[in-house]
Amino acid sequence: MRKVLLLGASGSIGSQTLDILLSDKAHFDLVGFSLGKRIERVPDILSSFPSVKDVCVQREEDYLSLKAKYPHLNWYFGDEGLKGIIDASDADMVVNALVGFSGMVPSVESLRHNKVLCLANKESLVVGGALIRSLLKEGKGKLYPIDSEHVAIAKLLSRVNRDEVDKILITASGGSFRDKSREELKEVTPAMALAHPTWSMGAKITIDSATMMNKGFEVLEAKWLFDFPLERTEILMHRESHVHSVLLMKDGTYLADVSVPDMHGPIAYALYETSVDFNLYPAKKLEDLGPYHFGKFDSERYPAPGLAMKAFNMGGNATAVLNAANEEAVYSFLDGKIPFLAIEDVVRKALDDIIITPSPNLDDLIMTDKQTREYVRRYVEERRSA
Ligand code: NDP
Ligand code: MG
Repeated sequence: MRKVLLLGASGSIGSQTLDILLSDKAHFDLVGFSLGKRIERVPDILSSFPSVKDVCVQREEDYLSLKAKYPHLNWYFGDEGLKGIIDASDADMVVNALVGFSGMVPSVESLRHNKVLCLANKESLVVGGALIRSLLKEGKGKLYPIDSEHVAIAKLLSRVNRDEVDKILITASGGSFRDKSREELKEVTPAMALAHPTWSMGAKITIDSATMMNKGFEVLEAKWLFDFPLERTEILMHRESHVHSVLLMKDGTYLADVSVPDMHGPIAYALYETSVDFNLYPAKKLEDLGPYHFGKFDSERYPAPGLAMKAFNMGGNATAVLNAANEEAVYSFLDGKIPFLAIEDVVRKALDDIIITPSPNLDDLIMTDKQTREYVRRYVEERRSA
């Protein structure tokens, strides 16, 4: 029996995680959860999971009203609350389905408490990969990724001799604007960007998919997870999102992980700690799938992964700048404050103007995040009034 604390229960990954927990109560006990502002989800989750003892919400006013309504539970709020719920919880597994930098401290805190961390929040690894790796090395915590490409790579790597792997090919759908030229991107709106062709996900990752910053993040995520050389990790365009990633072996053969796009699979792989010995959904016949398309990644059409690589190579806190600038730029685009193509400009500018802190600790990363956001907000306002 695993006692589970689910962070980000109201989101896309969070809701799908609840589906799996509900389907196997013999194996999982949900002892706590967090959500942001969608507190209308609280009554349903509590009635489905009477085992819950601890709940964290984002806003103090929600905390006060919910605490009055459910006084038998322990309530928390805000970023401090996320830290507090992890510190207090008797969960042995934390599922981090928060979006953005808000997930960073919870990842670190979970590993400091030697929890099994099922990590959807890839931003934690983008920003704090070095810190997370050292916590895994020094402590007793474990980490299982929840990202379809990384689950595919983990599965494939577990079946081969790593010395025989030539390349890791991370597949990319190309996002909502994959059939548009850069010229056409000048006019696109948030509503157009939010319509992803193959996946249904939260707003931020849907925009990251359209810019392909998501793929840049995933290359860094793979580096921290698998410690495979970056120069042999490539992006492969694949429209259908059925081939979740590929290994090119030194003997010239390709090994691929193929299934219909459904995040329940990767989430289950993490929750069951890689031993999913049952059929979550019936496999479709191969002859009913396809045809599949593969294409070359075009770094001029999609500059964002190049910016992610640049930040990684700069080292220190540069990926914290990358992440914070991207997050602020994405929300500015969603709020109608900047055009779509300005997302990349904002990130590029922030990386150009950064002051590097080598070997940052958690406080340095938090400070970099805060300063970069302030910098980007000023830049966005200046752009608007120019
Ligand atoms: P959603 O936006 O759907 O969900 C995010 C969750 O985090 C919600 O519960 C939200 O609360 C909560 N949240 C957001 N900001 C805060 C905050 N400041 N404080 C506390 N809680 C907060 O995102 P997704 O589920 O799509 O993505 C989650 C993570 O998983 C991301 O890192 C993403 O990159 C990754 N991922 C997602 C995939 C997908 O298919 N969706 C696939 C692979 C990875 P509320 O909504 O109540 O305000
Ligand atoms: Mg992915």
